[in-house]
Amino acid sequence: MAAIRNTLTYLVPDSFTVQPGQRVQVPLATRKATGIVLRAGSTLPPGIQARPILRVLDTEPVLSPELLELGLWISDYYVAPIGEVFRAMLPLRSATRRARSVRLSELGRRRLGIQSDAPPDVAPDVAPGFSPAHAALKGGATMPESAAVQDGVTALLAYLATRGSASLPLLRQRFSEAFTEALKEKWVAVDEVERDRTQRQIYAVRVAGPLPEKPRRLSPVAKRIMEALGAEGAAADHRELLQTARGDLSTLRKLSAAGLIELAPSTAGRGSALPGDSWAEADSSLVLTSAQNTVLQDLTKQLESGQFQTVLLHGITGSGKTEIYLRLIARCLEIGRTALLLVPEIALTPSVQAQFLARFGSKVALLHSALSENERHEEWWRVRRGEATVVLGTRSAIFAPLANLGAVIIDEEHDTSYKQEETPRYHGRDVAVVRARLAGALAVLGSATPSLESYWNAREGKYRLATLPERVEGRKLADVEIIDMRQEFRETHTSVPVSRRLHQEIETQIANRKQTMILLNRRGYSWFLLCRSCGQTQRCVNCSISLTYHRREHRLICHYCGYSTPVPPRCPNCDSEHLHYVGEGTEKVEKKFAELFPGARVARLDRDVARRQGQFQRVLDEFRRGKIDLLVGTQLIAKGHDFPGVTLVGVVSADIGLGLPDFRSAERTFQLLTQAAGRAGRGESPGRVLVQTFYPDHYAIRLAAEQDYEAFFQKEMRFRRMMHYPPVTALANVIAQGAKLEQAAQVAKHVGNFLIPLEQNTEGLKILGPTPAPLAKLEGRFRIQFLIKCASRARLSTILRRLADYTDQQGIPQRSLMIDMDPMNIM
Ligand code: ADP
Ligand code: ZN
Ligand code: ZN
Repeated sequence: MAAIRNTLTYLVPDSFTVQPGQRVQVPLATRKATGIVLRAGSTLPPGIQARPILRVLDTEPVLSPELLELGLWISDYYVAPIGEVFRAMLPLRSATRRARSVRLSELGRRRLGIQSDAPPDVAPDVAPGFSPAHAALKGGATMPESAAVQDGVTALLAYLATRGSASLPLLRQRFSEAFTEALKEKWVAVDEVERDRTQRQIYAVRVAGPLPEKPRRLSPVAKRIMEALGAEGAAADHRELLQTARGDLSTLRKLSAAGLIELAPSTAGRGSALPGDSWAEADSSLVLTSAQNTVLQDLTKQLESGQFQTVLLHGITGSGKTEIYLRLIARCLEIGRTALLLVPEIALTPSVQAQFLARFGSKVALLHSALSENERHEEWWRVRRGEATVVLGTRSAIFAPLANLGAVIIDEEHDTSYKQEETPRYHGRDVAVVRARLAGALAVLGSATPSLESYWNAREGKYRLATLPERVEGRKLADVEIIDMRQEFRETHTSVPVSRRLHQEIETQIANRKQTMILLNRRGYSWFLLCRSCGQTQRCVNCSISLTYHRREHRLICHYCGYSTPVPPRCPNCDSEHLHYVGEGTEKVEKKFAELFPGARVARLDRDVARRQGQFQRVLDEFRRGKIDLLVGTQLIAKGHDFPGVTLVGVVSADIGLGLPDFRSAERTFQLLTQAAGRAGRGESPGRVLVQTFYPDHYAIRLAAEQDYEAFFQKEMRFRRMMHYPPVTALANVIAQGAKLEQAAQVAKHVGNFLIPLEQNTEGLKILGPTPAPLAKLEGRFRIQFLIKCASRARLSTILRRLADYTDQQGIPQRSLMIDMDPMNIM
């Protein structure tokens, strides 16, 4: 089913009222669908046949007018169906849930001997744990079976009489056979009801101080709860606790009233972190450097002005940007506004998380993809209800329902993970700026290696520029040394991935008990499997790309689509036995290092490790605590970490990227090397970086070694200007795709029919293509590419919208056409 590009009109039955931003269930062709109310009007536009809304799913709007507008902007600018945009903005289940509720029936009332005029719903509000029915139940335990059931039925009915109603699963669990009996005899009636899911409170439970000398007599449930809590006093999530102890909230309330436990409203999704504000707002004792002070004052002034403004914070690695974010947010809360900090990947920033929780306590909501659906739901509603006023999250957290937003901060703004690589293909950083504009907020983009786009915007005066040119505490930037691998090869004639120089340096590090990070660009064991007889490599069946050998699984795996196949014993092409593994991935280098440095503790960190539950955090933790000497990893380890113990960073093969047919490859390489170098020497001792490369003279490598961002920017801008690439021009990537090459070609023909005539009469428009995409086949689909350049972003976006309308009219299915505005990846 294709997503709907346009909006639809429905009738609102008299029994409902709807507001913009509310979710509703509507009929769509022969099925039901969820929709968002965009506008409510009083008259139906002429000529429109509208069907009525079926039900309203939210008691209050889930999207504020500001977020609705943001969604419309995204849909427009990125040419994405509005429904898919809203789906990306609301990672939510329905706010209400169908539940089955049980009440006394007429028959049941008679059996209990209650007058039928007693209204069932106005029963006194008695906590179930204290109800007389409960007492009756306890007595029943020793009775013979059938009598016990009968007594149970009486208890059940009495329970319902006092409570009015109760949920079916609860009654089934508590009254088991008696409940079945009551249901069979129709003493109880079952209703389908809508439950509001948004108000469910989660509690953190802790043992309250030392237990009394003379233990009180506890019910079995209470005993189980106390046992499950243990003596350590760590806080537990009440839901988990009750599951283990098979109890319910009322018992917790009783224990709390008796002073045995502490029961406090909690915040979801932060593991064993303590709830509450007792430890919050611990002010940082750091004395800001004068550069930090200047920047903070400037940002604070912008924030307090209440005007939209974007500031690019260019602060070198280790210059203390995080501290500025924290203080700016604190100020933002003081003036009664809310704040949002986006980071590329939450797993990479445990220290930022810890600092946030330490400073803002339960005011923080975490929104990222590692949360369970439930946790995300709870966190989202804490923000929506206004309980959480600071959000820390990844890309989609930009849609957090914060009211009165004062500051949006994008850390590592150059990071490509802010770009969503599926519909809607939005860039979190750019959306952040638009959101700030809609909210009248301050947007701060922080990086040691700003994207060319952002730095250009700062240069052009669109953004303000703030800089932190020095590391804190007068620490020096690491010294970077380039090792020419061409020469290394000429002299040694071996293809070991580690040069003699790097080898020797690592040995010294180990002897001195210092930590080292080794960065390379490819995960897996070998890059590919090559047949030395016929020269063929093993390729993915779905993608035009070589398969990577993974030793742990002993399989060849596609890094694009995940396809995997066993390693063939002989070449499938020519049957030769001479299959050869080419290139070193992280897995191989880890293994090799363990052999080369037998005394050292070697570990690895890449996406394969990250996929294994808990492993990622464990390795990061052990490295931080100095339990690992040598950490081998992909660019994941170069991102933003603060490991004070690292004094040597070795870059084994960071220049592979330079060979890619992507105009951003120099920028990526520069960023990666600068960031990697930024990991060294963050503690007391200075750091060193060794960069092995086959392109020692390439400006991206040379200027990264000099850590000269400004010079790199100038040089790279010359190239972008000459070649007409962003940021001097707007760019879009349009790919026609199909399971068969002819299908892709057919779609490409339509695209060409629309675009090519436009080129003649639109100033500043340039169409490159159609050509096979660099990845000519991906996930089983052939791909034909058009790169579209245009002097104006707004004009380009309009052209893409018209292209989408045109192809829709031609009956081209949406999945046959990928439209990517401001692409980060043009492969
Ligand atoms: P960046 O994000 O700019 O690379 P961080 O924010 O990670 O840098 O800061 C690097 C380290 O410096 C952190 O350990 C931080 O606690 C510390 N730091 C920040 N500001 C100061 C300061 N004014 N004085 C001393 N240490 C500081
Ligand atoms: Zn072969
Ligand atoms: Zn593949």
